[in-house]
Amino acid sequence: MAPKKVTIIGSGNWGSAIARIVGHNATTYKDIFDPTVNMWVFEEIVDGRKLSEIINTQHENVKYLPGRKLPENVVAVTDVVEASKEADILIFVVPHQHVGKISQSLVGKLKDGAKAISLIKGLSTNNSGGIKLISEEIREILHIEVSVLMGANLAHEVADDHFCEATIGTLNKVEDGEMWTKLFNTDNFRINVVKDANTVELCGALKNIVACAAGFADGLKLGDNTKAALIRIGLIEMMKFVDTYYPGSHLETYFESCGVADLVTTCYGGRNRKVCAAFVTANKPLAEVEQELLNGQSAQGPLTAEEIYPMLQSSKNLEKFPLFVAVHRICKGEVSPDKLIDCIKGRC
Ligand code: NAD
Ligand code: 13P
Repeated sequence: MAPKKVTIIGSGNWGSAIARIVGHNATTYKDIFDPTVNMWVFEEIVDGRKLSEIINTQHENVKYLPGRKLPENVVAVTDVVEASKEADILIFVVPHQHVGKISQSLVGKLKDGAKAISLIKGLSTNNSGGIKLISEEIREILHIEVSVLMGANLAHEVADDHFCEATIGTLNKVEDGEMWTKLFNTDNFRINVVKDANTVELCGALKNIVACAAGFADGLKLGDNTKAALIRIGLIEMMKFVDTYYPGSHLETYFESCGVADLVTTCYGGRNRKVCAAFVTANKPLAEVEQELLNGQSAQGPLTAEEIYPMLQSSKNLEKFPLFVAVHRICKGEVSPDKLIDCIKGRC
């Protein structure tokens, strides 16, 4: 069988970190993967030069993952159709608000039998005020199989090759699981494959909301006990959310890297935490704080809280998810961050 061609759709902080692993594994397993990996780059000018040209000459994404080299077999391509048209494997790794438009641009342009994996932690909305998983959105638009990879994976630490784990959720654990493991697993980035794909993906999306609550608590200097309580309450809301809207989860999935582990790392070291902590004292809209602190990177928690809110409201479940609701209202400026704990107690 011809080696599979891999394309990474996205080149932000996580996209660039995962490109280091995928580029390495594509050359390690030349019988399975084509060693040249395309990486779609949303073009921008950085210090007067095109980012794609910097990546292809310096082999470094100087804006989104500075200081870490990319393998030379990872090639930046600025046209998403050009980058993807020969691909057997598509890795989606963009901030979730962009995935619909990108997927639409690929309709009718992909190779037959192409498969995808989403590393995107977020949700999409449907026309009736409900939500859609990002994997569902890609599947609906492109009619391809979509697996997911989520986990406790702060990009800069993965890029520094520190030991961590990730969970792949797939509907076909044996066949696809082996291929995805070959593509992503390394000695220090340990993959486990499970069949509970929806839960894996929902953990990745919802933990960003909990990280916002942890960030508010940090900004308010509420201490570690309060933060631990918020993480625990957040986990319960995550599990309740999955049981209510995507029933059938396996309890073990929450003990994979995509569950408790990602919740912990994001609540301590993530961008959502950082932005929300700064927001407490910033006296300006969250979007402005995000822009100032993240230099073009995106915090997905506030958007995800906004995306689930109408569904919680229409299904009369607002009271069952006080943390998710509080995060949304605080991010929107409807409630002051110092009311967080009152809201969790059902008094806001
Ligand atoms: P990022 O937050 O670094 O976002 C920047 C990227 O968005 C850049 O590549 C930029 O070119 C792109 N972008 C900006 N405007 C765009 C547009 N209009 N259309 C398309 N692309 C545009 O991205 P990231 O960190 O790679 O995150 C991607 C996904 O991976 C997110 O869902 C995130 O939650 C998830 N994730 C991130 C990390 C992490 O530590 N960064 C870890 C695990 C998962
Ligand atoms: P942030 O987007 O909050 O940085 O979280 C990154 C992440 O998902 C780590 O697993």
